[in-house]
Amino acid sequence: MSSRIAFIGLGHMGGPMALNLVKAGHQLLVFDLVPEAIKTLTDAGATAAGSAAEAVKDAEVVITMLPASKHVEGLYLGEDGLLKSIAKGTLVLECSTIAPESARKVSAAAAEHGLRMLDAPVSGGTGGAVAGTLTFIVGGADADLESAQPFLQVMGKNIFHAGDAGAGQVGKICNNMLLGILMAGTSEALALGVANGLDPKTLSDIIAKSSGRNWATELYNPWPGVMENVPSSKGYAGGFGVDLMLKDLGLAAEAALHTRSTTPLGELARNLYSMLSAQGHGGLDFSSVLKLYKK
Ligand code: NAD
Repeated sequence: MSSRIAFIGLGHMGGPMALNLVKAGHQLLVFDLVPEAIKTLTDAGATAAGSAAEAVKDAEVVITMLPASKHVEGLYLGEDGLLKSIAKGTLVLECSTIAPESARKVSAAAAEHGLRMLDAPVSGGTGGAVAGTLTFIVGGADADLESAQPFLQVMGKNIFHAGDAGAGQVGKICNNMLLGILMAGTSEALALGVANGLDPKTLSDIIAKSSGRNWATELYNPWPGVMENVPSSKGYAGGFGVDLMLKDLGLAAEAALHTRSTTPLGELARNLYSMLSAQGHGGLDFSSVLKLYKK
């Protein structure tokens, strides 16, 4: 069945996610601050809205995919906030990675306006967004997730209910903290091996079939030329930016402070990506953390 969906935030992730909804036969009204991002979608059959408020006016479902907490709070809350423009009962899927506190705040305000909001951050990168195989980590009410399933299943393959509002963000932050640590650790091990005479591809093959095996060695190798079609073999272009990883590690650090949790490796990883960003590499894919180790 075709639904009217407002999709706001058509960047690296939102663009392909919206495209998959168009391909599935839904009517999309799209908006982004960047006109070129809108054009890709209108070329595929979506309709451009002049503003976020115009996009959501007659929507049955609203989906947002924005950079960070400040963008999400800025869009939904406040005097000119979007919540006022969305019809009561509308399902709102907030897919950005933001602070759990921020997700709870926006979700509570949405409930006051009679809206059904889920925090539904994703994992799987731009490749997963294009292929429609993302993992959704959802926080919110059971019944709302039930209503969201047909839309989430177009964009993703694995859908997890982490708990109440904000729980999706907690799950996402824990996953990304581990990812940041694993990518730094993999880079460290590869650089050590190469400095001691090993070929990076041979060492990667060894690790991929040994106990140090992980997502980076199997699917997203940081060493240029070891794997085709990954950011490291394309000058670290595309993929998941250093500054976005830094943001997620900052969210993990905040969550740790909040609950007095001990996260020494997460903090170390946050400092490594912070150093990389300070060196001017914030826009590169996060696997460029290898630059800090490679001789
Ligand atoms: P992006 O910067 O490519 O896209 C964000 C888009 O939002 C941009 O096109 C921007 O113009 C638009 N935008 C910002 N404020 C807006 C507003 N007020 N109204 C309309 N449009 C607005 O970022 P991305 O890589 O697509 O990531 C989006 C979110 O997904 C982030 O929270 C990120 O942490 C998360 N995420 C990214 C990846 C990845 O691999 N890139 C993977 C998983 C999760």
